[in-house]
Amino acid sequence: MEVILAENLGFCYGVKRAIQLAENAAAPNQVTNTLGPIIHNPQMVAKLAENGVGTVDSLDEVSEGTIIIRSHGVGPDIYSRIESMGLNMIDATCPHVRKAQMSAKKLADEGYQVVVIGEKHHPEVRSILEWAGEKAIVLETVEEADSLSSFGRLGVVSQTTFSGAKFKEIVTSLLEKSVDLKILRTICTATDQRQSAALDLAGQVDLMIVIGGKNSANTTRLAQLCGEKCKTYHVETAEELCDDWFEKIKKIGITAGASTPDWIIKEVYKKCQKK
Ligand code: SF4
Repeated sequence: MEVILAENLGFCYGVKRAIQLAENAAAPNQVTNTLGPIIHNPQMVAKLAENGVGTVDSLDEVSEGTIIIRSHGVGPDIYSRIESMGLNMIDATCPHVRKAQMSAKKLADEGYQVVVIGEKHHPEVRSILEWAGEKAIVLETVEEADSLSSFGRLGVVSQTTFSGAKFKEIVTSLLEKSVDLKILRTICTATDQRQSAALDLAGQVDLMIVIGGKNSANTTRLAQLCGEKCKTYHVETAEELCDDWFEKIKKIGITAGASTPDWIIKEVYKKCQKK
């Protein structure tokens, strides 16, 4: 069986950095937690927990030790609270996310009505919004942009993992909404690279296996895109691969979301080779 790996797959720079910081923070007899799951991958979260790095959903659940801020980042109130609680902090906010947060803050400070283009409930978007202040707006669709009122000064930033094509469509609609429109395209290339490599590969194989957390938005999106080109299955681990998926299949393509650890990709790759 021929098994081909996508040219870009698995951990992006920001996730790799966050995992390394969390792994280095693990120490015996010390309380160490990440604020929210470090990445959307249950196997990686479980592995960190085995090594003493737990997960809390809120600062109310901790009173001592080290708290790790994940790559999605948090708003300024959380930093103040961590400081006032006297906790040790490790900031694993991805530098690209940090740039989007600071861009939003700068626009708000300069008097722009801030618009964040992204998914409303995504933790990264929530963190950017908190830096942009109470008046900031999130737009997820062109329809929402079309129905926006006009503003004297409109400043736009993006969720780092938002689709470049959708961002362009929304910004085009916003051109009508202000005479002073400032656009900061804070999209990270990691998502685009993974998507175009996956699409490329899906066009050359009979079957695509997309590996990553079922709770990972970027992995689910990869599976949707590949599914438009060829038969596709989304799995979290090698154990989920079924023999009957591989009947009459000659070429398999493999890709993985930005939060999928290498060791899981290797296991799936090896198992596919034996099919
Ligand atoms: S996708 Fe980009 S912005 Fe998001 S964590 Fe990875 S490198 Fe950072």
